[in-house]
Amino acid sequence: MTSLDDLPIRDDLRGQSPYGAPQKPVRIALNVNENTHPIPEVVVAHVTAAVEHALRTVNRYPDREFTTLREHLATYLGEGVEREQVWAANGSNEVIQQLLQAFGGPGRRVLGFPPTYSMHSIIASSTGTEWVTAERDDEFRLSPATAVAAVERLDPDIVFLCTPNNPTGTPIGLDTIEAVCAVARGIVIVDEAYAEFLPEGEPSALSLLPGRPRLVVSRTMSKAFAFAGARLGYLAADPAVVDALRLVRLPYHLSALTQAAAVAALQHAPLMLETVDAIRAQRDRLVVELAALGYAPHASGANFVLFGGVDDPQATFQYLLEHDILIRDIGLPGHLRVTAGTPEETTEFLEVLGRMNR
Ligand code: PMP
Repeated sequence: MTSLDDLPIRDDLRGQSPYGAPQKPVRIALNVNENTHPIPEVVVAHVTAAVEHALRTVNRYPDREFTTLREHLATYLGEGVEREQVWAANGSNEVIQQLLQAFGGPGRRVLGFPPTYSMHSIIASSTGTEWVTAERDDEFRLSPATAVAAVERLDPDIVFLCTPNNPTGTPIGLDTIEAVCAVARGIVIVDEAYAEFLPEGEPSALSLLPGRPRLVVSRTMSKAFAFAGARLGYLAADPAVVDALRLVRLPYHLSALTQAAAVAALQHAPLMLETVDAIRAQRDRLVVELAALGYAPHASGANFVLFGGVDDPQATFQYLLEHDILIRDIGLPGHLRVTAGTPEETTEFLEVLGRMNR
């Protein structure tokens, strides 16, 4: 049998591991921070009709500029964001990949603040961009002074600021983002995949876009919007950043069916986001009840909770899996991460965990 090592793979990819969140058929999947509520039936019907309509012209390539979709995304974002500032791809992972293809690459450096979203370093690696890291403050926070010191010391071409941060749930203040933009000579990517779960009225980095042409805010329909399977991520930035991405995107990368489905879903934005309050409530409940069970949960602004005080993460993960519950071992010693599910899913997770012999 041929193994990967027998192939003439790029030297810098030898020995690397792919993104590996386990996909297992369990009853309660709380492992990849999806919205565990299905989308409303009225949206299913509208998306179905929109996709059916798009199928009538599927013999033709789709709109390469996905103009209608960008219009709807800009309207959804508000904050004065215009269509020309919006770009989209198959998940925000692809958006980030295109950003690193355009602004990273061999001889360039990208800075991240671990523990953070694992795909940031994997995409750095696949685009031949050097991944450099710096420490956070206590409780995974990132102060302006700490972030600025790292940027000044490491002089990166790209900086990742993930807020709320995956896997810790920690938000980053706008003061830190502003301070990083002021000193960074490169692109600053603010990954706001979980922004909708922040407290109501909490400002987004979108408000910092005017006058900052190297700031990019990436978002996704995979989390609060409950549209992970459709694969639609997007960003807002200066129109010149969008021009850069046109140089690296593959032509027609967003299928006509994806565009139609996403536009139809965005027309129901308030309805699609109706579960956000309920998810926030389960997240806050997880923090309280995990502490009551003797664990050390971290404050979270997202739809998941990272908790410490786990003596044997692998054994706890396995015990839950035997009870048909899948959570995430993100490789942080003494920690596990759990997504806030429906009230019933959360209850079952907490009850099963509470029954475990520790
Ligand atoms: N950014 C962060 C911080 C994430 O946690 C995720 C998904 N886990 C993504 C981006 C990518 O999501 P998608 O490609 O589905 O938009």
